[in-house]
Amino acid sequence: MSDFRERAAALDAADPLSAWRQQFQLDADVVAYLDGNSLGRLPLRTRERLATFVREEWGARLIRGWSEGWVELPVVVGDEVGALLGAAPGQTVVGDSTSIGIAKALHAAASLAPGRTRLVVDASDFPTDRYLAEEVARQRGLELVVVHRDAEGDVAASLADVLDERTAVVLLSHVDYRTGVLLDLPSLTAQVHAAGALVVWDLCHSAGVVPTSLDTAEVDLAVGCTYKYLNGGPGAPAFLYAAARHLPHLEQPLPGWWSADDLFAMAEEYRPATDARRLLSGTPNVAGLVAVREGVAMVAEAGVEAARAKSELLTGFTVDALDALGERGLALQLVTPREPDRRGSHVTVRVPDARALTARLTDRGVVPDFREPDLLRLGLAPLTTSFAELHAGLSVLAEELAH
Ligand SMILES: *Cc1c(COP(=O)(O)O)cnc(C)c1O
Repeated sequence: MSDFRERAAALDAADPLSAWRQQFQLDADVVAYLDGNSLGRLPLRTRERLATFVREEWGARLIRGWSEGWVELPVVVGDEVGALLGAAPGQTVVGDSTSIGIAKALHAAASLAPGRTRLVVDASDFPTDRYLAEEVARQRGLELVVVHRDAEGDVAASLADVLDERTAVVLLSHVDYRTGVLLDLPSLTAQVHAAGALVVWDLCHSAGVVPTSLDTAEVDLAVGCTYKYLNGGPGAPAFLYAAARHLPHLEQPLPGWWSADDLFAMAEEYRPATDARRLLSGTPNVAGLVAVREGVAMVAEAGVEAARAKSELLTGFTVDALDALGERGLALQLVTPREPDRRGSHVTVRVPDARALTARLTDRGVVPDFREPDLLRLGLAPLTTSFAELHAGLSVLAEELAH
């Protein structure tokens, strides 16, 4: 791994995003944090901002805070997230969780496709996505249709087999949480639309690290986490996007006072808002929104395109290093595509005894992710992962694999 050490130094020296790392809390016991795709590091400015919020807004302003800006936060932060996703203002909100957002988006999409009877889900999707798809289908009397990835990890062929005039909605994940396979969002969206159906995209593993053009691609609805590459903190509120053309018409399953046309009218009868607030339900978590806003601002300042460029170098470095370990006879098998444009920002390898290996790595300050049954997932966050850090982590992995 020594030639990789020099390569890492050169890449760090040439990295236009290298200064961002110092804007996050870095503790000496963490040798290499390779889990930024599960929980992004803590931005220093979020630490400061939350302390100020607690003291000066919550503590000092009390209920007055709502009329001094808190009420607008779900749409204000929504627009800021939307800007990272290629969404014009007025279509994105932040609140609830990704799981709640998936349920809302699936119901909303189905409500826009009356008469159609099928909900399509990917067999390899994240568990919460599959569970919710099954339940939404059950609640709405839709038939759940399951598609499967081909050997390359693509889903287009399987989709082509099932899409027809019965299809109401298709749920897809932009980046596969296990393999890291990046789907072609514009082309799959067009494929679903050609059948007259709607698509809901889960952007959990791409938001902030893979550029998207939701408006240009004419995506119908999208959801995603803010605690991964957007560094919003554990359990940070999620985003939900609905295209402007759908907002006045969609029905969502949890209509509350925050999605009513006049929040403070306390009207006898529910009349839904026609703007993005239509996607909300109840009082949002203000502290969570305050934290999300800082992480999102950092990604916006750094630029998603720049993040993607560095991400491709980080994943490329990792693939090459893993190949070198394989050539040394260590037992590992790359699961993530070798082509940079076919993968997101994590690299997954199949290793023997992955769970125990993950525990040994974590003991040594190298923090990856373990996914059942035998996958080791290395998440690379462009704002916080340095090539030296990555090299250090991979070196420990090499030692533990050689054990
Ligand atoms: C992380 C992740 C989730 C998490 O949903 P929560 O409601 O935040 O627990 C959902 N879907 C995908 C694809 C994810 O990667």
